[in-house]
Amino acid sequence: MLEILNAITTGRREEKGSQALERFQGVMQLEQLGEVIRSTSLCGLGQTAPNPVLSTLRWFRDEYEAHVFDRKCKAGVCQSLLLYSIDPEKCRGCTLCAKKCPAGAILGTPKAPHHIVPERCVGCGTCREACPFAAITVE
Ligand code: SF4
Ligand code: SF4
Repeated sequence: MLEILNAITTGRREEKGSQALERFQGVMQLEQLGEVIRSTSLCGLGQTAPNPVLSTLRWFRDEYEAHVFDRKCKAGVCQSLLLYSIDPEKCRGCTLCAKKCPAGAILGTPKAPHHIVPERCVGCGTCREACPFAAITVE
């Protein structure tokens, strides 16, 4: 179950439709696994262990689907699903974000708009906190 949850909440961008389908199949397996664990465990611990997943699947299925198909985390919790970008209209090229980025994902020259390389970004949010001009957005 953990492996499936990890597949849903990590890795993103430039993924193909078939990979989304594989993740969707994973969600269905998650449900089946949870039911099997609940109905076949001998003790109460095993019987209740899958409840968090089963209840969130029941009440927040749209969030699972957003993770699987849109590759988005509405709650803004799954770091690797967040997409950070710099608004070139607001960026003054102060270089602060590039200096603080732990992944070296921000490129640019002083006094010119900077740019985030999505493939390198780990979604830590440090740049957004550092920018004095609120030029960095996340979705
Ligand atoms: S979110 Fe983190 S890793 Fe991504 S560009 Fe900003 S500082 Fe770098
Ligand atoms: S910290 Fe803000 S203003 Fe400075 S370079 Fe980065 S995005 Fe541009």
